[in-house]
Amino acid sequence: MNAKVRLYVDHPLGAGQTVPLDRDQAHYLFGVMRLSVGARVALFNGRDGEWQTEVLEAGKRGGVLACVAQSKPLQLPPDLWLIFAPIKKARTDFIVEKAAEMGAARILPVATDFTNSERIRQDRLQAHAVEAAEQCGGTYVPEVAELQKLSALLDHWPAERQLMFCDEAEVGQRLFLDVAAASAGPWAILIGPEGGFSDAERKRLHAMEQSHVVSLGPRILRADTAAVAAMTLWQKRLGDW
Ligand code: SAM
Repeated sequence: MNAKVRLYVDHPLGAGQTVPLDRDQAHYLFGVMRLSVGARVALFNGRDGEWQTEVLEAGKRGGVLACVAQSKPLQLPPDLWLIFAPIKKARTDFIVEKAAEMGAARILPVATDFTNSERIRQDRLQAHAVEAAEQCGGTYVPEVAELQKLSALLDHWPAERQLMFCDEAEVGQRLFLDVAAASAGPWAILIGPEGGFSDAERKRLHAMEQSHVVSLGPRILRADTAAVAAMTLWQKRLGDW
């Protein structure tokens, strides 16, 4: 029977492999989830798929699990970046969690001309991505990048990566990814802050060869709603849904 508890570990997984637990992991498994020696735990590390493991040692400050059998192969998401301007803390957390659940390969917070929040805690956001992968059954954890300026990201934009630019100025238009122009391959979705994009940013983004300007319907969505809507549309059209 497969384990009910899933945990991300930064440790190799494979036949005959044992996995040492740190204090936090031991506290979660043996203190919070009340598991003991012999219990099953599903582990993944973002590289080796999901493995069913058995508890060999259970202590307050640590423990050891032993790999029994692989229960899922590694399933990589499509090569999709979600680029967004951080908003209020809880809503930023929501965007990262949903992006990880919905299948983003990388999550990139950017500072735009009208960004509300100039700072993020990258480590906290990365932990949210890990938790989301743990609960959704994924075997991959997207990297959450450090905050960078949108202009700097665009300065070094990879030539082959197409961009779904969600532009609130197109509200009410019926623009979506033109099937002929939008082909599979590396992609990114860009969502702006509460204040939207500046004229200068919009001009630059419209001029980019890789840019596909998209409307998300007849109403202005909050940035967190827009991120979920855009990922849904992209995944259905070009992704792994
Ligand atoms: N303050 C802006 C305004 O009133 O025009 C709205 C910004 S909106 C809250 C945040 C971001 O969500 C936008 O920058 C855009 O990327 C995306 N967005 C929201 N609604 C959209 C729509 N209908 N079409 C395209 N993008 C949208």
